[in-house]
Amino acid sequence: MGTGDALTLLALTPRETEQAFERLGARPFHARIARAQVFEHGALDYAAMSALPKELRARLAEELPIASGSEVDRRVAADGTTKLLLRFPGAKAVDVETVHLPPSTSGKAATLCVSSQAGCPVGCPFCASGLLGLARNLESAEILEQYVRGRALGALSRSVVMGMGEPLLNYERLARALDVVHDEMGLGARAITVSTVGFPDRLRRIAPTKPRFQLAISLHTPDQEQRDLLVPAMRGVPLAEIVAAADDWFEQTGREVTYEYALLGGCNDSAGHAERLARLLARRRASVNLIPWNPVESAESSPWKRPDEAGVERFRSTLAARGIVATVRWSKGVEADAACGQLRLRHAAPAS
Ligand code: SF4
Repeated sequence: MGTGDALTLLALTPRETEQAFERLGARPFHARIARAQVFEHGALDYAAMSALPKELRARLAEELPIASGSEVDRRVAADGTTKLLLRFPGAKAVDVETVHLPPSTSGKAATLCVSSQAGCPVGCPFCASGLLGLARNLESAEILEQYVRGRALGALSRSVVMGMGEPLLNYERLARALDVVHDEMGLGARAITVSTVGFPDRLRRIAPTKPRFQLAISLHTPDQEQRDLLVPAMRGVPLAEIVAAADDWFEQTGREVTYEYALLGGCNDSAGHAERLARLLARRRASVNLIPWNPVESAESSPWKRPDEAGVERFRSTLAARGIVATVRWSKGVEADAACGQLRLRHAAPAS
């Protein structure tokens, strides 16, 4: 895999794993057993792999660790949402968040929310990850490790790449990891959603490769000037171009695009915003997820508030009246710091 990857099982392809096992005196089927334990059951050490000879397990633990990261914090909300803070060594040690939502919480399926970068260079002012900027890209193995640790918490039916980072800015590594998630963890293309701020040129490059995931584009506003402020890395990229690239994506892949819209109370949640959003998306094969904003703990001077339920419902029904299917996603586990990036911020904050 990537040249920056540490030598771990997660950094190797199935063939490379067999070769590494053979170098340690094991047989190819031993490698297949180990990979199945890792990806199908979330195993993170060899000790419990009783189908492997005992001496081999000890040797593997020495020579080919499964993963490079460690869990430095875990918060479990009353509703069962589990937020993991993972530390990855690499050229630069970084902390990254992964959130597991159990079936009862996510409505229909156990869902894992993974990060594609440590921090984020996009700089959205309402997001804790954006406040700290980008530390570095994650390696494929580090993205995969989040899945394996998530699987260790329980069965996974869905995954969203909506944690820290902008997935299209680390796309090659992400795509390699998602291939393994698809092939060896059994998550189908409909079960994986990648959420991006929508770089049109990158979308147009990726679509012809028929990627095996659903695409979500974080739009957040129908107004160009406001988007330039809310999504600073996209300043000057016309909304019309993003929506046109999404239309091409649908044509090329046959998969509908979902638009994400963080509802910031008093900012982008007016009746006029709903009307203009409906106009922008009129006659398009797309749906909208409305995400009422969670306050960022550290942003004390935040100009926004969490929108109230009646206002959110008004926004949704304005879209619905104009033929746009919109679903409200109240984010869960607020007490477990489920707003993007907040757990890491708490660790990064100087001790008081
Ligand atoms: S909202 Fe997403 S794109 Fe914006 S700064 Fe946060 S992680 Fe990055």
